[in-house]
Amino acid sequence: MPRPLSATIHTAALANNLAIARKYAPKSKIWAVVKANAYGHGLARAFPGLRATDGFGLLDLEEAAKLRELGWAGPILLLEGFFRPTDIDVIDRYSLTTAVHCDEQLRMLEMARLSKPVNIQLKMNSGMNRLGYTPEKFRAAWERARAVQGIGQITLMTHFSDADAPRGIAHQLEAFERGAEGIAGARSLANSAAVLWHPDAHCDWVRPGIMLYGASPSGVTADIADTGLKPAMTLQSELIAVQTVDAGSSIGYGSTYTAGTSMRIGVVACGYADGYPRVAPEGTPVIVDGVRTRLVGRVSMDMLTVDLTPCPGAGIGSRVELWGGNLPIDDVASSAGTIGYELMCAIALRVPVRAE
Ligand SMILES: *Cc1c(COP(=O)(O)O)cnc(C)c1O
Repeated sequence: MPRPLSATIHTAALANNLAIARKYAPKSKIWAVVKANAYGHGLARAFPGLRATDGFGLLDLEEAAKLRELGWAGPILLLEGFFRPTDIDVIDRYSLTTAVHCDEQLRMLEMARLSKPVNIQLKMNSGMNRLGYTPEKFRAAWERARAVQGIGQITLMTHFSDADAPRGIAHQLEAFERGAEGIAGARSLANSAAVLWHPDAHCDWVRPGIMLYGASPSGVTADIADTGLKPAMTLQSELIAVQTVDAGSSIGYGSTYTAGTSMRIGVVACGYADGYPRVAPEGTPVIVDGVRTRLVGRVSMDMLTVDLTPCPGAGIGSRVELWGGNLPIDDVASSAGTIGYELMCAIALRVPVRAE
């Protein structure tokens, strides 16, 4: 028997979440963002649930090629653009759309020999200060791109830093509109947070990622409670041992937890080598036998320990959910001081994953 730990990808949840993105942005086309191996879900496993999209956004040329092999003939967008002149051959071969965020990339396109024009998304830095041309330099970049023979359609693109946060997007929208004024072409601005919370930024194409996987852009479960989004990944395991300890006994490495009374401790086959965060503190929620209980003691490489007080019937073989359909990943993430994005992307290679 393999270890009882596994992850399940819920195809119906992915399809549901894509439909919800459409419901929120009914006039926009959708780039379903599947970078980082579909946020850890597996590109091939996520594809059937997301194939009703208009296009896929990702970063790696290898992932783009894989999508073509899976039979996807529609648009594929390289969200970060490309890095070497030889990348352009791959872009040409697989008919990819690419972000262009700097003069070096424009120069490579000017020198390239292409079999057909490549569509680009010219990226503006509207305040995130990561990638793109400033509003002041944007028009010149667009003029230059327009003059490149090998460039086909030019879409105008920017990315928000605070679409899920109090600062919001007004300052970036203002910068974007200033830089893009009078320039023709489709617009692509919105990540999941802007799809959900900033309809004024939907424009022609939206780029949802995290919402497709059923987690919150803000990392706060309550923020998506009324959206109908459903978790697309469940990480589940089993109890592989139970210890009944006396008051004063400590649990695990570093003796960080000491039992206040006699209690039962469940040992779960899941540790940080599986992608569960080692920093998750005492009190992090875990579901055992359908009951929400809590982590106690330090997470070790292959195991973690839970308080079985609320689930007296639990024993070896009892089902454990680390996150998923019954336990929002953001609840676990926020307890560990991070966001659902990081946990789903960090699922370790050794965890068997299957789609249902
Ligand atoms: C990752 C990414 C997205 C998706 O962001 P979410 O917050 O997951 O919706 C959209 N656009 C770009 C450029 C990205 O890199």
